Amino acid sequence: MIDLSPFERYPLTFGPTPIEPLARLSQHLGGEVELFAKREDCNSGLAFGGNKLRKLEYIIPDALAEGADTLVTIGGVQSNHTRQVAAVAAKLGMKCHLVQESWVPFPDAVYDRVGNILMSRVMGAEVELVDAGFDIGIRESWERALEAVRARGGRPYAIPAGASVHKYGGLGFAAFAEEVRAQEAELGFSFDYIVVCTVTGSTHAGMLTGFAADGRARRVIGIDASGTPAQTKAQVLSIARDTAALVKLPGELTEDDVVLLEDYAYPAYGVPSEETNEAIRLCARLEGMMTDPVYEGKSMQGLIDLVGRGYFPAGSRVLYAHLGGVPAINAYSYLYRNG
Ligand SMILES: *Cc1c(COP(=O)(O)O)cnc(C)c1O
Repeated sequence: MIDLSPFERYPLTFGPTPIEPLARLSQHLGGEVELFAKREDCNSGLAFGGNKLRKLEYIIPDALAEGADTLVTIGGVQSNHTRQVAAVAAKLGMKCHLVQESWVPFPDAVYDRVGNILMSRVMGAEVELVDAGFDIGIRESWERALEAVRARGGRPYAIPAGASVHKYGGLGFAAFAEEVRAQEAELGFSFDYIVVCTVTGSTHAGMLTGFAADGRARRVIGIDASGTPAQTKAQVLSIARDTAALVKLPGELTEDDVVLLEDYAYPAYGVPSEETNEAIRLCARLEGMMTDPVYEGKSMQGLIDLVGRGYFPAGSRVLYAHLGGVPAINAYSYLYRNG
């Protein structure tokens, strides 16, 4: 058990997210492994929800305590994270400044008009398009945005890419592990593996900290979608260690506790492979569950491939964390014009 009661939480989600069996997908893949999905994609009424809201629940109290009036953050053009920050700012009556960088080399004509960025604009965020490539670290454009808010008399609060490299960035998904444990007690069984998509790292890091409390850190299987796995893995470990210290987890987390599979991120961050698209279609057609070409389509591809290769022993119960992200599929309309 991990005690999160010392940390203030500002509720942005509906409450515990549902866990549902993926019966037809499990059957299709041979029926020896039971697949379930935890629906973080349906976690909130804030602009279609997603995994960043769970993190922001533990970050927003710090912004309020500082007396900030503007949330400033950064992401790619079709960032789910920036859309969720825009929704939170609207809900709290704050201003929002988003730096959207060209992280994805994708040529769809409507790429910067639809999906996430459309919603951020409608919700009143100031959207700044910047020409810079993919990087999960701290960026100069972001520092400049903070300065611009200060220069006009505002009080900015800086939220890093993916709400990850922040002192409280890992708490939300440490709480996720507690939530799963409570649901397991009700279900009468526990999950043998948890599959999660990993890019900026605090979702995976929070989960592995939370599940380390019952010896399951290495049962959290991260599927890299960044295409820069060495940097992502290092970031997961460092956030996990910081989070473990915060929640006073006994023992030390090591590099071996970070299981990050690198085989599904190709050809690049934000660009789906043919195998990713097949996974998106298979899951949609068997379960009516939509995944996106940037993140969850790749972790779904990984899940399907791992089951096929016998990675999970027969009889395993595997929990797929569906982290959201479907709005971005609109920016890839040409790829799916025939389904
Ligand atoms: C941000 C995001 C991820 C990756 O989570 P990190 O905490 O950045 O590793 C995965 N899926 C979706 C839909 C996301 O928006």
